Amino acid sequence: MEHTRLESELFDVGRRLHAALPAATRNPLKAADDKAMELASQDAELKAALFRFVDVVPACRSLDDLARHLTGFLGEVETPPPPVAVAMKMGNTRAGRTALGAAAAAGVKHMAHRFIVGESPRAALGTLRELWKDGVATSVDLLGEATVTQAEAQRYAARCTEALETVAAAARDWPERPALERDSAGVLPRANLSVKVSALTPLLRPDAPDRGKRDAADRLRGLLHRTRDLGAHLHIDMESLDSRDAVLELVLELLAEEEFRAGPSAGMVLQAYLRDSPQTLDTVLDWAAGAGAGRAHPLTVRLVKGAYWDHEVVEAAQHGWSAPVFEVKADSDRNFERLTQRLLDARPALRVAIASHNLRSIAHAIAYDRLSGGMGADLELQVLRGLGDPLQHAIVAQGLRVRTYCPVGDLVAGMAYLVRRLLENTSNESFLAEQAKGVPLEQLLAPPAVAAGR
Ligand SMILES: Cc1cc2nc3c(=O)[nH]c(=O)nc-3n(C[C@H](O)[C@H](O)[C@H](O)COP(=O)(O)OP(=O)(O)OC[C@H]3O[C@@H](n4cnc5c(N)ncnc54)[C@H](O)[C@@H]3O)c2cc1C
Repeated sequence: MEHTRLESELFDVGRRLHAALPAATRNPLKAADDKAMELASQDAELKAALFRFVDVVPACRSLDDLARHLTGFLGEVETPPPPVAVAMKMGNTRAGRTALGAAAAAGVKHMAHRFIVGESPRAALGTLRELWKDGVATSVDLLGEATVTQAEAQRYAARCTEALETVAAAARDWPERPALERDSAGVLPRANLSVKVSALTPLLRPDAPDRGKRDAADRLRGLLHRTRDLGAHLHIDMESLDSRDAVLELVLELLAEEEFRAGPSAGMVLQAYLRDSPQTLDTVLDWAAGAGAGRAHPLTVRLVKGAYWDHEVVEAAQHGWSAPVFEVKADSDRNFERLTQRLLDARPALRVAIASHNLRSIAHAIAYDRLSGGMGADLELQVLRGLGDPLQHAIVAQGLRVRTYCPVGDLVAGMAYLVRRLLENTSNESFLAEQAKGVPLEQLLAPPAVAAGR
């Protein structure tokens, strides 16, 4: 496809999407409750202190306890900005500490509510229905990952089954939304659950991948049966690289089994920040043409950049390995676009979901689909609850299919998720941070190579 035609279509799509963003939210990170994120993004030390604080919140037993931790962490920042200095003064007295603790707890809760739709699947049903009515499909994610005991893994699998049943039953009464329910490969289930393999087994370790795979396989097989019987969709998330191969093999092996040929609808995740992700896509395409061919529902591949960048870089440095992830953001962005094109070209063997909050990455997928003759029906766009809220509506306004990933669970279970979202959004290189800083639209939509220079 001619490069300049693609860029020109991409800019058109990007401008239209941008114009459709609600005016007040064009800078999503500028909302009133984002003060903490803004402050943190300006100061690396403060950011580190806040991350450590958010990590200990679930372990705090009282407001006093919480305030002591907060002032303790903030005390490590050499020259705190004025609001922090005020907070530290308050921390000197017991009454002050209690007031400060209450404010901090409320702040963390407020932030968590932006990203988490409810404490249980039942509590989330109202939001799921509202989104559906507004033309937005969802995928429910049960918070809680990396289980350490068999009992925890069992409990997670039981919670997943319950979530599937609860959402599938409620979804029967949702109004018809043809754009969300059908593509050219057939029916798209209304109920959609995302699961993490690390929560389905305590044995997923890089040094003995087969044991973890075997242990997770039984629980995943059970979930696939239930998903099939309910006519729902099961999506297997991807986590850090040390479990990537085990998760990929597990999913492709199970889905190739005869009993799953007729269903369920299922999917996996490809992470574009991994240098070897093009080879992973080769493996998936070979599978789709071989062992996975002829399944009633083509495998859905969700393309993401990857949420464990800091972890992968630190882990590799500790072992003296070279990083498995790209270290220049523009390289991840460029690879994301190449993989988008390969995935879209692979249809109908696969279903494609492009998951990003980056206007350029999204506009690129829509433009490439259009120029290859697509009408949007065989392209799904995905965003995270709390980060992609304005974008999801702008996508609906273009008549395209969008699915919002909706975490469900309590604050304690949600802490790891919350920290990842904070890390991502206070990074200088994050698209949303750049958008919030007021970087002009033309620059936000510029090709990654050019963007690398800014
Ligand atoms: C619906 C949905 C589901 C998701 N599921 C998963 C999942 O299963 N597994 C998973 O890992 N992630 C998942 N993610 C998160 C995703 O990987 C990204 O972390 C997130 O979407 C931010 O990327 P972006 O394109 O929105 O933003 P952008 O700001 O354009 O990109 C940020 C991303 O760029 C990469 N990056 C940052 N700095 C650098 C650097 N210096 N060098 C190279 N690369 C860099 C990182 O991957 C970072 O997350 C999901 C996201 C969505 C929307």
